[in-house]
Amino acid sequence: MSQNKYVCRHRGEVCREDREDKNGFRAVTIWFSGLSGAGKSTIAHKVEKRLFDEGAQVYTFDGDNVRQGLCSDLSFSPEGRQENIRRISEMTKLFMDAGIICLCAFITPSRATQQQLREGYGKDEFFLVHVDCPVEVCESRDVKGYYELARKGKIKDYTGVSGTYESPIEPDLTLKTDICPLEECVEQAYQFVIKKLARSEAV
Ligand code: ADP
Repeated sequence: MSQNKYVCRHRGEVCREDREDKNGFRAVTIWFSGLSGAGKSTIAHKVEKRLFDEGAQVYTFDGDNVRQGLCSDLSFSPEGRQENIRRISEMTKLFMDAGIICLCAFITPSRATQQQLREGYGKDEFFLVHVDCPVEVCESRDVKGYYELARKGKIKDYTGVSGTYESPIEPDLTLKTDICPLEECVEQAYQFVIKKLARSEAV
């Protein structure tokens, strides 16, 4: 039986608003969704570096730092992916409590999951960025060589090959990485993020 009903969160003396006041910006989660090789990690890490250099508290979650530890027990089945996303989103909520901007780079292929994610956050604290790129272009980049393995049937449920990617219905931002050069995509993403960090302005 779950013991959750006996869990009561201790209310600390330092709250999120105190941390945001100190930092001078709001903590938000920016979620980059798109096919493997679309450019999610590259863009997120470049935006992170820019924000970091400007003194922001920011952290990027991606498959590499999550699947190796926190979620190393999970498969890439639909259930495994769903639990992976659930854990990451819970993690970002703790990070936001700590006043940290979270950038997340995960394929997030299911529209239902994209919607559930959005519903799990408060108003104006979650923003979905569609990193949009045709599968043929992603495949030609084949950053990790996984498309080739998927085509040979060596990787099952590979999104874009043997698994579907459902484009977000109403993303907050779309970056078309096949036609827009990298630096321009980074600039667009960065400009989008900094507007969401403003504390006084309505977002
Ligand atoms: P993902 O995280 O979506 O799997 P990666 O960021 O690992 O994708 O890889 C994307 C690759 O595409 C990188 O090698 C990157 O340099 C390249 N690329 C080319 N054009 C762009 C662009 N406009 N935006 C992002 N990445 C691009």
